[in-house]
This record gives sequence, C-alpha cells and structure tokens, in this order.
Amino acid sequence: MLEPALLPTPLVDCTDEVFARAGVELRLKRDDLLHPTVPGNKWRKLAPNLADAVERGHTRLLTFGGAYSTHLRAVAAAAGALGLESVGLVRGEELADRPRNWSLRAAEAAGMRLEFLTRAAYREATGRAAADHGASAEELRRRWGSCLVLPEGGSNALAAVGAAAVPAELPDLGARDVVCCPVGTGGTLAGIAAGLPPGARALGVAVLRGGEGYLEAEVARLHRAAYGREFDNWRIDHAHHGGGYGRVPADLAAFAEGFERRHGVPLERRYVAKLLAALAGLAEAGAFPRGTRLTAVVTGVPDPEQPEQPEQPE
Ligand SMILES: *Cc1c(COP(=O)(O)O)cnc(C)c1O
Repeated sequence: MLEPALLPTPLVDCTDEVFARAGVELRLKRDDLLHPTVPGNKWRKLAPNLADAVERGHTRLLTFGGAYSTHLRAVAAAAGALGLESVGLVRGEELADRPRNWSLRAAEAAGMRLEFLTRAAYREATGRAAADHGASAEELRRRWGSCLVLPEGGSNALAAVGAAAVPAELPDLGARDVVCCPVGTGGTLAGIAAGLPPGARALGVAVLRGGEGYLEAEVARLHRAAYGREFDNWRIDHAHHGGGYGRVPADLAAFAEGFERRHGVPLERRYVAKLLAALAGLAEAGAFPRGTRLTAVVTGVPDPEQPEQPEQPE
C-alpha cells in the first residue's frame, strides 16, 4: 500500500467574487496535498492498481507516457516506494539520445527504466494496453517480461474505483452539488461520477481539443468495466481547453496568477487552472442555477519549472 500523506484531503471554502456574483458557492478539494511524489488524482488512480499488483505477485509495472507525463513520474515514484520495478515506454524515439528533461530525469531517478518508441510503435503499444484485458497485453509481456500493464494516463477500471473515493470524502452532497474535475483520459471523472450519491452531479472540463464524443465514450467504457453499468449524472465541457493540451493562453495564465494571489493555492496550469477558469467562465455566463455548490477537485501540483514553484517534489 502506498501510504498517503494526508487522507481525507482538506475541503476548503473558496470565496471568490466571480462565483459570488453568480450566486454560486465554490469549494476546493485539496487532493494536491495527498502525496508528495504521487500527487492528486495520480495517487487516487494508482493506489488500487498497486494493491492489485502486489496481491497478484507482480514485481514490475509497465506503462506509457509523453515526454512530460505526470502519470509516468507518478508510476516511477510509486513503484520505487513499494520496491517494484518499473518500465516506462516513452513516445518519441528521438528523445533517446537527447539530454533528459526534468520530467524524464525524475522518472529515471525514481528507478524507472525508460524505453523510447517511435510514434507508430507507441500508438500500437498503448492501443494494446488500452484494451484493458489480458489478451492484448500479452504481446507487451512477451516483449517486456512479466509485468502489470497500466494504460496511458493510468485510467482503467480500478483507477475509476480509486477516484470514486473523492466524493465519498465529501459530506452532505445533494441536488445543489456539482463536483468538478479536469479531464485528460476520463478516469478521474468516471470515478467521481460513480461515487456520487443520488441527486448530485459531476462536471468534467476537457483540457484537450477535439475530445468530444471520444472522451464521453471513454468514461462510459470505464463505468461498464468498473461497475457493469453506465451513469447519467455527469457531463463534459469541451469549450475551455484553451487551444489544446498543454496550451496555456495569456488569459488563462493571468487568471491562474490572480487566483493564486487571491487564494494562496498553487495552480497546476495544464489541468487545474483550466478547470477553475472554466468554472469561473461558466458561472459568469449563468450556466449554474443560483444556489449551486461547486466542489473543484485540485487534482495535482504545478510543474517544478514554474518559477513561482521552484521546489515541487516531482
Ligand atoms: C493526469 C491529470 C489529470 C487527468 O486525469 P484523467 O483521469 O486522465 O482524466 C487531471 N489533473 C491533473 C493535475 C493530472 O495530472
């Protein structure tokens, strides 16, 4: 078991003018404080998978990610902490001969063995892992040895079950509640929706462009895989991706800096800042009935390269 630093994570009221004007309450679920090296939703999603790996006698984890993947660093750190081996298949063979960036360096420092794949080979390998069942992962095991294969981004049925613990830590949820999170691969949103009591709803904000339809199908697939049914208490907003994954336009950067200054909460830019900016925009546009209570899940910590956060543990 990967011991959490803090569980349940703090739930804090956040009084902010944009929301107040719209008659909407905002709270922050501080999952960013959950674990120093496996932050936020990465801990939520990995914890049940790690328990499963240990229970099934696996000594090695295998997963996938891009050059700056938080998931890759999280798996490396978690495996290291549990004394498991880890292999990371990285998108982009050209990275093999270059000096490691801070993210890949951190993964390696935690003990992960990195293998660099061409984009075509990466697509094929992630596709096999995404099928989420034994047969397709067999080919990967033939190549990389006996291991537990975690899909890209870490979203599988167990990950969704792990994320379902977030709403379980929120008392008194009811019809006026909307629990909100950013959406990368959809595992976190799937878990949050599944963990809600009747009446409450979940809202995901897509941080990538062009995910409409695909991401909804992913969430539904995870629901079937983890719970054997679908849920209708959630939706995904696709209008606040800021131009695409990893893009931080100037207005989003300004929003994030203002929010950090007002509330003293460091905002990870690719996901968390987009979520909060989206909620502010939606509140301002009257998208939430007055009296709505929003709970925004702070799913991670800022990257260390941000000048205002020089000492992030990753
Ligand atoms: C990985 C990540 C997400 C994406 O979560 P999914 O379950 O893939 O949708 C959201 N927020 C942060 C901070 C992340 O690092």
